[in-house]
Amino acid sequence: METCDECKKGKLRKKSVEYVIYGKGLGNFPALVCDRCNETLFAGETFFAIERQAKQKGVWGIAAKTRIGTSGNSLDVKIPKPVVDFLGLRKGQEVVIEPLGEKKFQVSVVSS
Ligand SMILES: [Zn+2]
Repeated sequence: METCDECKKGKLRKKSVEYVIYGKGLGNFPALVCDRCNETLFAGETFFAIERQAKQKGVWGIAAKTRIGTSGNSLDVKIPKPVVDFLGLRKGQEVVIEPLGEKKFQVSVVSS
């Protein structure tokens, strides 16, 4: 049995693990999971299967760079179309913006 590269102590065991991206489960895939630190490794060929599922569910590669613009006295952030589609966003929806750190913020939809 292989030893975990991450913690150097645990053993990697074969498990079926659900792959979740943007809160959407893509199904279970074979992985090696450390019995100590839970480090999870997917084999290369498994990644292709995950990628196929992600593309099918429309969640592949939707993270995109965008720029901060201006709108009157405020700044605005253009939300790329794939993200708009994934979240089902519409103009006029109410959102809450809150900082999560010095270089990170979160936008949560409060009305639908
Ligand atoms: Zn480990």
